Amino acid sequence: MKKKYKIIKSGIAAGAMIASLITSGCSMDVECNVNEPHAHMYVDKYTGLSKYILGEKEQVSDFVRQEQYSKLTDDLKIICEYDLCTISDNKENFYFLVDKMGDTTREEFKTEYVYGYYVGWGFGYNPMRNKYEYFFGGHTGYHWESDWKDISLDEYTDNPVRDTYYKIRLYKISDGKLETRLFDSVDEIDEEYNYFNENYVVERQITDEYYLSEKNKGK
Ligand SMILES: [Zn+2]
Repeated sequence: MKKKYKIIKSGIAAGAMIASLITSGCSMDVECNVNEPHAHMYVDKYTGLSKYILGEKEQVSDFVRQEQYSKLTDDLKIICEYDLCTISDNKENFYFLVDKMGDTTREEFKTEYVYGYYVGWGFGYNPMRNKYEYFFGGHTGYHWESDWKDISLDEYTDNPVRDTYYKIRLYKISDGKLETRLFDSVDEIDEEYNYFNENYVVERQITDEYYLSEKNKGK
């Protein structure tokens, strides 16, 4: 009886220890002697990306608190609120993220006569009626199929096309207000737009369907 009690007790202790490890791991505040309102610089331990985060947490996801801080101005409040990084502090990381955005790609809506499985009208074995007949259902054979297929940008087609392209989303703060704009490439960035969010800096966009003009023919 005594033994059993002991096991339960140590089980509770272990549980309590795990719970305290979990909470300390993600939310322990660091003691801070700075008196004015401020925000600390945090640095991602894997990428080196830095940004200001409010509070005194030891770590916020992968971002580790630094002693370095900045006085909390109205602008800095907005930067923290929208979770923004500064390009000038993060040039390498910024170019790395933007480099991944890829080139414009094009697809055409192509209808082809292809062999394979399809659901539709056709002649074949109808399992529902246990006989060969013309029926609506699953068939294997030649049939018309329409789908978006990749084509190169210098290819001409009479079919409708659509393009997928990428833009860079940046922010600036002017007169205490956050403004955002999309840029086509790093060469076109207006220096006033010095802020980005590392998770949304590259935006994928798809055009409406359109037809290539005859001018593109044989280009
Ligand atoms: Zn502090």
